[in-house]
Amino acid sequence: MVRQQRSGFPTFILVALATGLFGLVVWINARPAEAPRSIIIPTEARPTENPQSWQAILREGFGSDATAPATIAIPTASFAPPTLPASGDTNLTPIPAAQVGGGDQPSQGGAVTPTRPLATATFLTTAIPVTEQVVTRPPSDWNPPPLIPPISRDPLGRDHYWFIRPVDSNATNFALFSYSYGSDGPQQENPWRVHHGIDMPNPIGQTVRAAGSGAVIWAGQGFQDSASYGNVVVIQHDFGYKGQPLFTLYAHLSAVLAAPGQFVNAGDPIGLVGNTGRVSGPHVHFEVRLGENRYRATYNPLLWMVPYVNHGVIAGRVVGPRGNLLQDQTVTVRDFRTGLVVQSTTTYIFLDNGSDVNSDPLWQETFVFADIPAGRYEVVTNIDGIPVTELVTVSEGMTSFAELALDVTPVPAAEATLAPP
Ligand SMILES: [Zn+2]
Repeated sequence: MVRQQRSGFPTFILVALATGLFGLVVWINARPAEAPRSIIIPTEARPTENPQSWQAILREGFGSDATAPATIAIPTASFAPPTLPASGDTNLTPIPAAQVGGGDQPSQGGAVTPTRPLATATFLTTAIPVTEQVVTRPPSDWNPPPLIPPISRDPLGRDHYWFIRPVDSNATNFALFSYSYGSDGPQQENPWRVHHGIDMPNPIGQTVRAAGSGAVIWAGQGFQDSASYGNVVVIQHDFGYKGQPLFTLYAHLSAVLAAPGQFVNAGDPIGLVGNTGRVSGPHVHFEVRLGENRYRATYNPLLWMVPYVNHGVIAGRVVGPRGNLLQDQTVTVRDFRTGLVVQSTTTYIFLDNGSDVNSDPLWQETFVFADIPAGRYEVVTNIDGIPVTELVTVSEGMTSFAELALDVTPVPAAEATLAPP
C-alpha cells in the first residue's frame, strides 16, 4: 500500500509536468507574433529637463517654438514698400510744436515745462531712417530665436531681460542702429528729436506682439496728446521692477488689435506694423517706461529685451577728462579677432528739458549694443582726438559693461564683464 503510493505519486507528477510542458509549448507557439522589443539598459541618469527651456526648444528646431503663436485671427494687409525720399521729407505735415514736446500733458499728471526751447518743427518733420535694405530683408535671413524670459545668466543678477521682442524672429526684430535710443539720428547738422525708444522697420501688416503680460491701458490715436505716435498700444505689465510699474509702448500701428482694459500675455498680437504718425516708412516704435507712464520715464529697451541665443549685450559710458559724461559720442564695437566693426552707436543726449531719456538705475549707461554674438570685442571711441579702447567679453544672455575714459587705467577684459558700473 505504502509502496504503491510511493511509486504512483512520482508517475502522477511526471505526467502532470509533461502535460504542462506540452501545453506551454502549444500556448507559446499559438501566440501572435510580437514586434521585437529593444532592451534599454540605463547607462547613465539623465537630469529632468524643463521642456520650455531654450535648450530643449533649440533641439526641437526653429519651428513654431521660435515665436509665440497667434491667439486671434490677424487681418491680412497688403505689403506697401516704404517711401524713402532722397533727402528730407516733403510729404509730412508739420505738427505744432506744442504737441511734440514729448506727449506730457496736464491730464497725465502735470505738464512738464521745458527749461530750454523745444526744437523747431523743421527737424521734427524729418523722416525716420527706414532703409529699403532692412525692410526688404529676405525671409531666409533668419535670426536665432530669443532666449525664453525671464532669464538672467549674470551671476550677480543685474540684468532684467523681461520682455520678448514685439516682432517675430522671422521679421526685423532688432533695433535700427542709425536712430538708437537717446540719439538724435545720424545727421548732425539736421538732428532729429532725441529718440525715446527703438525702431524696428517692417512691412505694413507685420504682427506686433505684447512684449510681456499685462493690461492694455491705451489703444488708438491721440496718446498723451501727441499725434506723432499715430496708433499706439500701451501695456501696463502685471510685474514691475524694484517696486515700480513697468509699461511698454508700441507706436505707428496700421491696425490696433487690442482694447483698453484687455489682459494680454506675452506674444499676443496687439497690432500691426504701420506708418501712422510721424514716420516716412513703416516700423514699430517700441518704448519701455519705468515708474510712470510718461515720456520722461523711458529707458533703453535693449536692456529689457531678452537677447538671442548665443548673443549678449554691451552697455557702457564715455567719461570725459573731468569725469563728465560725454554726450552724442560715437562708440564702435569691433570684433577683437577680425578687427571688423560689428556695430556703431552714439551716447545718449541729455537736453535737461524735463523729458530726457534715462540711464538704467543700475548700469548708469549712456550707450548700449544689443545682439552681439558671444565673443571678445574692442569697444572704441575717440576722446579729444585720442582713441580709447576697452576689451570686453560678451557672454550669452548677459550684459557686459565698458567704461571708456582717458584717465582710467584699462580694466582687464575678464574683470570688465563683471565689474560694477
Ligand atoms: Zn522711434
